[in-house]
Amino acid sequence: MDHDEILRWLRETDPGRIEELWAHADRVRRDMVGDEVHLRGLIEISNHCVQQCGYCGLHRHNKKVQRYRMSREEIIGCIRQAVAFGYGTVVMQSGEDYGITTEWMADIIRWTKANTPLAVTLSFGERPDDDLKRWREAGADRYLLRFETSDPVLYAHIHPPLPNRTSDRFALLRLLRELGYETGSGVMIGIPGQTYDTLANDICAFREMDLDMIGVGPYLSHPDTFLGIPGGGYPRIDPAEQVPNAEDMVYRVVALTRLVCPEANIPSTTALATINKDSGREQGLARGANVIMPNLTPQTYRALYEIYPAKACIDEAAGHCADCVQHRIRSIGRQVGRGPGFRVTHSP
Ligand code: SAH
Repeated sequence: MDHDEILRWLRETDPGRIEELWAHADRVRRDMVGDEVHLRGLIEISNHCVQQCGYCGLHRHNKKVQRYRMSREEIIGCIRQAVAFGYGTVVMQSGEDYGITTEWMADIIRWTKANTPLAVTLSFGERPDDDLKRWREAGADRYLLRFETSDPVLYAHIHPPLPNRTSDRFALLRLLRELGYETGSGVMIGIPGQTYDTLANDICAFREMDLDMIGVGPYLSHPDTFLGIPGGGYPRIDPAEQVPNAEDMVYRVVALTRLVCPEANIPSTTALATINKDSGREQGLARGANVIMPNLTPQTYRALYEIYPAKACIDEAAGHCADCVQHRIRSIGRQVGRGPGFRVTHSP
């Protein structure tokens, strides 16, 4: 499937044809990665951040955020819960927080690999090469870093560079792969200034990079960010070219991503569940996705990790999320995945 065909699917208006896209993506998902849905327990370990992203509520200048950083004991408590709930992976995520020191995190990774059967996924932003290397040596299996958009002008706008630093997420993704991490990336859908053409390029980039994991979700406006302010000065584009941050568009991107990267692990994301709390997760799973990331963050911190408002599950306890996702998976005739759920590889 080339760029122009992807573009046609993104703009398709015939409901019958769109049903064909869902069915095709679901078939490819079943043939390539099976009916198992892998559970990755998400621990949002800190909301401190040095970056100033225009989309994210945790950016450094947002004085309204009450900042937290979980202790080693709290994190290990959550990791033990991941084991108890039968999850195969623990995902630790945070703002870009240098209070998370290299060795402190390496020790938590080593503890997890020595004491649990879990795969360890990290998502700590654009850390120095040496940190990524040392965490890999400590046993981390995977790293998530979305490139957010493949349009360099739009990226520079939504992710203003820090003084004396460049931000090249594509270079970091290449390094992660060289270090032996399973590498995950993705984009937001409906960023102000994002065109259909750009989004089709993003999907082509997923294939070119041969990503192991691809997460996509709707852009959700946060009132305490510059992109969230009406008229927030984003690149002016023809309104007919602007991608909507609509549920249907997210499913299209999930489905097309499955078609261009048939072996990838693709989550039905929390942002998708946020715009359709009743059935967003299930519909994502039925249109190409095969992973869910239930939240393990202690309730005291959940609401403080506000990357966007009204995030799904902020009031739930971790045990409730575990029961809820397992029920949702079974209700659509799928099974909860066993083991860490590494990427499958089919020989050519
Ligand atoms: N600091 C880490 C983790 C960020 S949160 C990093 O930068 O990689 C993980 C993802 O949430 C981001 O990559 C982004 O794609 C998504 N996200 C952040 N703010 C969002 C918003 N307002 N709407 C939708 N998704 C958002």
